[in-house]
Amino acid sequence: MMSAMYQHQFSADLNSTHHLGKIVCVGRNYADHAKELNNPIPKQPLLFIKPSTAAVAMQETISLPRNMGSCHHELEMAVLIGQTLRQASTEQVERAIIGIGLGLDLTLRDVQTTLKEKGQPWERAKAFDGSCPLSPFVSADGIDLQNLDLKLMVNGELRQSGNTRDMLFPVAGLLKEVSTIFTLLPGDVVLTGTPAGVGPLYSGDQIVASLGDLMTVETSIS
Ligand code: ZN
Repeated sequence: MMSAMYQHQFSADLNSTHHLGKIVCVGRNYADHAKELNNPIPKQPLLFIKPSTAAVAMQETISLPRNMGSCHHELEMAVLIGQTLRQASTEQVERAIIGIGLGLDLTLRDVQTTLKEKGQPWERAKAFDGSCPLSPFVSADGIDLQNLDLKLMVNGELRQSGNTRDMLFPVAGLLKEVSTIFTLLPGDVVLTGTPAGVGPLYSGDQIVASLGDLMTVETSIS
């Protein structure tokens, strides 16, 4: 199932940032999504990690795990880190964000529900091989990260539509907080949460995902 090792594609300089170490994700960062799954609004960011082996290129055909119940799409803005962040200041965070793109936080929803019921960690549902399709990244220079439309079409139908202004924990503060727990290294990626409209994907689905006017990625599910 695994193809060649994932490498970032970035329109700007790739020197220090081609190597993906880890993907830090935030759950329930949009109130409308927390609500649709009957989850409370978090008081602090709900953080989890996907390993580098979760990453695949979004623009290539995406394979889903077989016989594991429903696999949901969660379209999220992805931030590419260019400098080490540890206990970072807002200024350091702003300097360190070098790229932005799209990520799909693929989630085995039935597995996750069972894990939640048992009070167990989510990795089986969210950190499996291929669970994080990532788009190519573009430069974050001069872009307002808190005013970008996120849209996901599946088979021509609009499934997810949100705007990054509705994040409960906006990017700068979120990364500051993340850097107090996990040191972020050049090449790491942070997924910033999904707006409402998550739902199952099936073999043969055609996907169009967009981030403002910055990018549109077309892909399919095998
Ligand atoms: Zn997510």
